[in-house]
Amino acid sequence: MAEKKVTKIGVLTSGGDAPGMNAAIRAVVRTGIYNGMEVYGILRGYSGMIDGDIFKMESKSVANIIQRGGTILKTARCKEFFTYEGREKAYSNLKKLGINGLVIIGGDGSFRGAQIFSNEFDIPCIGLPGTIDKDIAGTDFTIGFDTAVNTAVEAIDKVRDTADAHDRLFIIEVMGRDSGYIALHSGIATGAENILIPERRTDIEDIINALAEKQGRKKLVNIIVVAEGEEFGATELSKIMTERMPEQEIRVCILGHIQRGGAPTCFDRLIASRMGYAAVECLMEGRFNVFVGIVNNRMHYIPLDEAVKKKQKIGEDWMKIVKILSS
Ligand code: ADP
Repeated sequence: MAEKKVTKIGVLTSGGDAPGMNAAIRAVVRTGIYNGMEVYGILRGYSGMIDGDIFKMESKSVANIIQRGGTILKTARCKEFFTYEGREKAYSNLKKLGINGLVIIGGDGSFRGAQIFSNEFDIPCIGLPGTIDKDIAGTDFTIGFDTAVNTAVEAIDKVRDTADAHDRLFIIEVMGRDSGYIALHSGIATGAENILIPERRTDIEDIINALAEKQGRKKLVNIIVVAEGEEFGATELSKIMTERMPEQEIRVCILGHIQRGGAPTCFDRLIASRMGYAAVECLMEGRFNVFVGIVNNRMHYIPLDEAVKKKQKIGEDWMKIVKILSS
């Protein structure tokens, strides 16, 4: 499979940042150097590749970062990379330095860019799923998801205390423009009454009836978790529900960017380390243009072009769990 030996690799983080990206960078750098490769850091995702913001990394360049959120390489969304001219510029910068392999840590958009780039130019690309949304099919986990969910859980628990004290209903919005996974996991873990996600139609009538029924039997109801991409959004939902249930005090809490930052959990550091190590192995073994996933605790290698075609789905069984456990 391998056409030529990969000796110099570039590593970059692209798209939305996610806690654990630093642990992945560290693993790529140290595994590469251990195997006799030169490793180059590329700043601000594909923008740095186009601008030539590329520097050689040593083992000590990644000291003391495993516990830090964000990304030491910075990240960006890069319009120019959507054009052939932009990608050609990026390629010529890599060529000048002799870089002949790339590791891209990012979400499905970054993988799409990597897939197009690897089809056009002779630089093999390996993707590492770095996204808090867990919206990439073919892997059980993505780097950053566990940290984001734990942050959301901690915040929702705190809101619940005050909701409980005042008998208020809180509609809490968590991140997830296209994906309901943060809402689903944090909602189940905090015992939310209902969880509303972009993947499912929201039936307001249903929500109100269920609340009325529970209140009728004196069940305390105080948390609804909503993903930001859900069809109404927390603010609109609260307006509609207040009109329909004027006796119920309803508040909205939007968690926002606190879910992106912070020290990665042990779990995220671990999967990022394993995935970073596996990415370098892929380049050494000629397993090119794949992304590294973990399925049933084993490494999986999924062709980049498959990754960009599929979306992670949320099965009906999840929704059944939500309904039964909140009854
Ligand atoms: P994420 O990787 O978090 O999903 P984006 O969707 O914003 O984030 O993608 C990150 C970057 O990847 C984009 O800003 C762009 O530079 C590159 N990219 C995404 N889609 C494409 C594409 N179809 N062609 C070329 N580059 C792309």
